[in-house]
Amino acid sequence: VVEPVHEAVLGRAAGYGDAVALVDGVNGTTVTYRQLDLFHRGIAAALAAAGLRKGDVLALHSPNTIAYPAVFHGASRAGAVVTTVHPLATAEEFAKQLRDSSARWIVTVSPLLEVARRAAELVGGIEEIFTCDRAEGHTSVIDMFTSTAPQPEVAIDPAEDLAALPYSSGTTGVPKGVMLTHRSLATNLGQLDPFIPMGPGDRILAVLPFFHIYGLTALMNAPLRNGATVVVLPRFDLETFLGAIQQHRIDGLYVAPPIVLALAKHPAVDGYDLSSLRYVVSAAAPLDAELAEACAKRLGLPPVRQAYGMTELSPGTHVVPLTEPDPPRGSVGLLLPSTEMRLLALDGSGRDVGEGEEGEIAIRGPQVMKGYLGRPEATADMIDAEGWVHTGDVGRVDGGGWLYVVDRVKELIKYKGYQVAPAELEALLLTCEAIADAAVIGVAGADGGEVPKAYVVRQPGAEELDEAAVMAFVAERVAPYKKVRQVEFTAAIPRAASGKILRRELRDRERGGR
Ligand code: ATP
Ligand code: MG
Repeated sequence: VVEPVHEAVLGRAAGYGDAVALVDGVNGTTVTYRQLDLFHRGIAAALAAAGLRKGDVLALHSPNTIAYPAVFHGASRAGAVVTTVHPLATAEEFAKQLRDSSARWIVTVSPLLEVARRAAELVGGIEEIFTCDRAEGHTSVIDMFTSTAPQPEVAIDPAEDLAALPYSSGTTGVPKGVMLTHRSLATNLGQLDPFIPMGPGDRILAVLPFFHIYGLTALMNAPLRNGATVVVLPRFDLETFLGAIQQHRIDGLYVAPPIVLALAKHPAVDGYDLSSLRYVVSAAAPLDAELAEACAKRLGLPPVRQAYGMTELSPGTHVVPLTEPDPPRGSVGLLLPSTEMRLLALDGSGRDVGEGEEGEIAIRGPQVMKGYLGRPEATADMIDAEGWVHTGDVGRVDGGGWLYVVDRVKELIKYKGYQVAPAELEALLLTCEAIADAAVIGVAGADGGEVPKAYVVRQPGAEELDEAAVMAFVAERVAPYKKVRQVEFTAAIPRAASGKILRRELRDRERGGR
């Protein structure tokens, strides 16, 4: 039986009783499981009393807070489809998402109220704006926690009805609204459970944003479903993050590669007692094996575990099981149960590649999205007639079934008939002591073909590092066709909230001649 997602996550909450579900990492406020159960039911009742009906889209526009799960699952219980919004979105960007998703309700926080109001004005048709904290003239969800209104009677068909409408990260283009049903979200949680066991007493640090599907699943739904404690931080700041690990005796970290990079290289790490940590999981973007090893070694931990997925897959398909003591270097994991994978030849022939050969990752399983909202062509490009999702990612698999992700098909640089994966060169550059961060894109070379260009952030004090040194560092370590042929120093690498390098911004910069 597949349950609606709020049942899959909070169905057992009352049973966990007075165990702490959520801790505000800034002011220490806690929410017990009993309260969380009560609060999300109160929100469901109050939203229904306010007029919210099954299928209404509710925009949740907030950084991570301890109210976020109650709002998400309360809205879900009332039959809403929750579209999660980047808290740093401009009013125009927010308005675009409201329009695209046909949202009718907004939940925000008072510091973002002005942006939410402007966005609502731009689109019209918004019934009401609620806040997570107290703000004059707006109902706070805090007042809904203890609502005495009747519980809504909503019949949910988990296989058909949408629970969430997250937007893809927009790494490759315009973010697309991804229609996820109750079944796809709930099933994926069940698929992940045996790979990332979490339970009462475990303490997880939620530093990646809940609005992105990775944070929503790994940092909110999976731990709350299993009775763990989630310490919530509203944004990433290295010192606050390290301080929270120390103060709250955090067990497990679910992060993206830039945080692994900081844990491996940043001097501030030595100033904290991180001995409570038992494991680190990294997902959302390619992670270099050497960097992963440096991080684990510095923290005295078992190997950093990777996971792989995408918004369209609710999001997980592969995870390195936490229980695996010695996973193969660089792998993103094993296929989750009841999921199928094919690797399709990059020559477009439709043929499946053999073991060890690179191909486009295609996935089929219950976690596949229903489609992109209002974009039938994009949906048809992504999901073929047999239900396979063409991920656009290049991977290979070894004899043990372990998957390795190379890069995105579209990001591969075509250098004279060869294909160069920018992720591989970025990973290599990060192993250079003098380099703090790096990104690689393909640019026009002298003969009109594509050549790899590196954008490099120098480590503080490494001013002597010049272009020639960067090129030589790479040239000594790769086959000649992979050499970096242009270098530009920059102050920072543009990244999405989920930690992904925004190579398209670098390409724009390149085209703009800046
Ligand atoms: P958009 O589709 O809007 O361009 P996006 O693909 O970045 O944005 P997400 O759904 O957040 O949006 O990210 C999924 C992508 O993240 C995958 O297709 C893959 O390229 C990348 N990814 C996820 N996990 C890993 C991993 N462990 N290693 C390498 N890449 C990963
Ligand atoms: Mg994508």
